[in-house]
Amino acid sequence: MTVPFLDLGAAVTELREDIDAAIARVLDSGSYILGPEVDAFEDEFARYCEAAHCIGVGNGLDALHLVLRAWGIGPGDEVIVPSNTYIATWLAVSQCGAVPVPVEPVEFTYNIDPARIKAAISPRTKAIIAVHLYGQPADLSPICTIAKAHNLRVLEDAAQAHGARYHGKRIGSHGDAVAWSFYPGKNLGALGDAGAVTTNDNGLAQQLRALRNYGSQVKYVNDVQGYNSRLDALQAAVLRVKLRHLDVWNERRARIATIYGKALVDSGLSLPAVPEWATSAWHLYVIRHPRRDALQKFLTNQGIGTLIHYPIPPHRQKAYASGPTTFSPQPLAESISNEVLSLPIGPQFPESAAHKVIKAIHRFSTD
Ligand SMILES: *Cc1c(COP(=O)(O)O)cnc(C)c1O
Repeated sequence: MTVPFLDLGAAVTELREDIDAAIARVLDSGSYILGPEVDAFEDEFARYCEAAHCIGVGNGLDALHLVLRAWGIGPGDEVIVPSNTYIATWLAVSQCGAVPVPVEPVEFTYNIDPARIKAAISPRTKAIIAVHLYGQPADLSPICTIAKAHNLRVLEDAAQAHGARYHGKRIGSHGDAVAWSFYPGKNLGALGDAGAVTTNDNGLAQQLRALRNYGSQVKYVNDVQGYNSRLDALQAAVLRVKLRHLDVWNERRARIATIYGKALVDSGLSLPAVPEWATSAWHLYVIRHPRRDALQKFLTNQGIGTLIHYPIPPHRQKAYASGPTTFSPQPLAESISNEVLSLPIGPQFPESAAHKVIKAIHRFSTD
């Protein structure tokens, strides 16, 4: 590939000295799981997210799952989820023994459609998970209003939305809890698995600190049957370095998005639409095209890397085919999965490479 989809090494290269120093500090500290480095990252990320608390955990799926557990969600319960999302959102619900109830997206924001949520609520519904897909916030205000009226909790899946804003306020505490992933490819990425929850709920924060650590708040005293899902000091130290650059890196992503947006208006692609209340973190730059597979093949032949987020919606996965629940067709999620294509974007992605992508797309369109 002359234009790779993502160059994770480039992010490390840019910050190599600071990352080396952070790792050396942890090696010398003698503290490798939780501890002062994790405390410091939790404080800094909570402040960044405009949230009262941050609780570091092992990964993004655990962040979602532990919140649902803390809320006591289990067998017999239902949780509303987007039909158009990464499967982790659904798995967190299934792992609790509850049933994910899909709701279709707004077609050109790709996020859960608040107008369709009410029809999906039943007496068993306990919570709504809103995913900020591709870096763009879901329309949280009507979602929180519906939740309040039906006594439901709102969990945000912000795995793709570090630094995004909704009505000017950072993602991090609009809903009752916000789950984060720091998987290496995310906007704020560790050098391994890592995740967190942010929340303004003091009681929930306390519960999560126990749940992530064997259900224990005092060593060897176990109040609940918890999990082992702790953030380690090496990842926290690396995340602290990268957090200082997140806003600048997101601005670079936004600049690439602007370049694509201006140059591709008349190219026959459907471009991402950003509502006026949203500030996207531009985790992905996702376009739609009725001949998506041909476009992807053409770009591959030109040496341009692209990916599909996501080729199979969760309800169509084999993982959900033989369960006790049968899911009705989700026509929007299905047509989206057939037409979306993610163009390369990233904080180290050169503008010259964006112009190569644009030229190739214009060649495809005039073919
Ligand atoms: C990455 C991601 C997750 C899961 O995060 P992990 O750290 O890989 O467990 C959950 N939801 C969404 C939308 C994601 O993109």
